[in-house]
Amino acid sequence: METNMKRRDFLKTAIASGAVLMAGGALAGCAPTGGGNASKGASDGDSVVGTSPVSFSEETDVLILGTGIAGMSAAMDPVEAGHKVMLVDKLDRIGGESFIACGVMNVSGSVMHQEAGIPGTAEEKWAKYAPVLEKAGETDDLEYKKNVYLCQTEWADRVYQDYGAKFQPLAEYKDTGAPTSMLLPEHGIGDMTTVLTPLQKGLEEKGATYKLNLRATNFIVNKDGNPIGVRFNDEKNSKTVDIKAQKIIVATGGFSCNQEMMSSFLPTQAKLGPLTVHSMGEGHQMCKALGGVYNRMDMEANRMSDLAQVTVWGYFGPNVQITPQGRRFIKEDQSHDTPDKAAELELGFWWTIFDNQLTSGSQKWNVEQNMKSNAERLVGPCNTLDELATAMDVPADNLKATFEAYDAAVAAGEDKEFGKKLFLKSLAAPYYAMKHFPYRYKTHGGMKITTDSQLVDKDGNPIANVYCCGSTVADSGSDLSPNAGSALVTGKAVTAALKA
Ligand SMILES: Cc1cc2nc3c(=O)[nH]c(=O)nc-3n(C[C@H](O)[C@H](O)[C@H](O)COP(=O)(O)OP(=O)(O)OC[C@H]3O[C@@H](n4cnc5c(N)ncnc54)[C@H](O)[C@@H]3O)c2cc1C
Repeated sequence: METNMKRRDFLKTAIASGAVLMAGGALAGCAPTGGGNASKGASDGDSVVGTSPVSFSEETDVLILGTGIAGMSAAMDPVEAGHKVMLVDKLDRIGGESFIACGVMNVSGSVMHQEAGIPGTAEEKWAKYAPVLEKAGETDDLEYKKNVYLCQTEWADRVYQDYGAKFQPLAEYKDTGAPTSMLLPEHGIGDMTTVLTPLQKGLEEKGATYKLNLRATNFIVNKDGNPIGVRFNDEKNSKTVDIKAQKIIVATGGFSCNQEMMSSFLPTQAKLGPLTVHSMGEGHQMCKALGGVYNRMDMEANRMSDLAQVTVWGYFGPNVQITPQGRRFIKEDQSHDTPDKAAELELGFWWTIFDNQLTSGSQKWNVEQNMKSNAERLVGPCNTLDELATAMDVPADNLKATFEAYDAAVAAGEDKEFGKKLFLKSLAAPYYAMKHFPYRYKTHGGMKITTDSQLVDKDGNPIANVYCCGSTVADSGSDLSPNAGSALVTGKAVTAALKA
């Protein structure tokens, strides 16, 4: 039916008062005076099993679904403008995947950069990045991408200066050979709470409220078919909660944990296990039921190690990554290349070998933590490569040949075989090694939106009152800082719309 009629006409025909929109665009739970009679054979009081009439228990200006970096960052502008903002999460904790992320945030030209004497503005960096992005054909909306890019820097500055977020001083790693385009939380890798907890608390102090254990299940639409609220399932008490809102922001993350969606859209990763469990694409499905359109759902996303933080050590210190047979198989300075290659080569697992340059380097806090909390994966300290090979159960001859070739590349100043650029340095005893397995962990595909991040239908028309950001959007970038940037774009648009 929906394919033959315009979305709005379809919804108008079917609804006379608040109704709950089910997956696939079907309507349920119309109020007693509802438009059930408009459809053939239905009578007053007819309902869909498992749904109940709309009954709003609360009302807010802005309702944000999801409390990850995108949800919280989208709250900043509306809260600061004095609007009533409510953030809701299905879990019993705030923060989604963002709180457990490694914390590598690609940002240029921030106040932290200026404080560390690192030149360059976000605009200048964008001018260099835009042609690369365009050439790669990875965006439908370059203007949106630009806004997201510039907003990443604005986000970092605002959370630092206005909310008290703490970042590791760039001075601690800027002269080590690590990329200065990467911001890290206070203690380095793995410390996202030092960035996000101040934001969470700051928003609360400015008037935002958080509600946990509420799983958004459906949009609630008015007689014109316009979304006016959201239905939730109270996960603790198994009851329905309806919340009314002028504007709704969907920031429910990606769909990497939804096996059915992965099998349909990203079959290349369907056979890898999901690293996390909550990214179920629920916001995607709700938006689709409302007439929204999926975009770039098959866009490849890189894979991750189950020891995610260990995967990003290569940006900040030397290590050598080897196969279970003791052979090098990848350059070690691009975190995601390793799990991608390990999956491609069907290695099963791989090892990261490191030494005191990492244990005493700029990320020593994280290295120490991982060595402690993953002791069963740790090998070492080992005083010789023979000892290391025995402890890892890899052929010693292979391992020694690997190190000979690696050391020769170091001496030549060029890694001809794999192209490693950062930290092309030899390792020395005592050696350590950690074992990893490749997992899938994020997705890029998401909802099609306007340049100001409003959800659109299949004809490109904005759907009233609904905005999307973070990993729910195809063009956001699905990493911490672009998700934050995309959320600022959304928050600004919602604030402007409320003013209008
Ligand atoms: C282990 C790991 C390490 C990573 N490391 C990095 C890194 O170093 N750098 C980087 O840039 N990126 C990293 N990423 C990716 C990054 O964490 C994500 O891109 C980002 O956190 C997604 O932000 P988000 O706000 O869109 O989603 P999330 O942070 O996942 O937040 C979504 C929220 O929505 C809630 N939600 C979902 N469905 C519903 C519903 N139906 N009703 C109510 N609430 C709902 C979820 O519970 C969750 O709290 C990492 C990811 C993982 C898993």
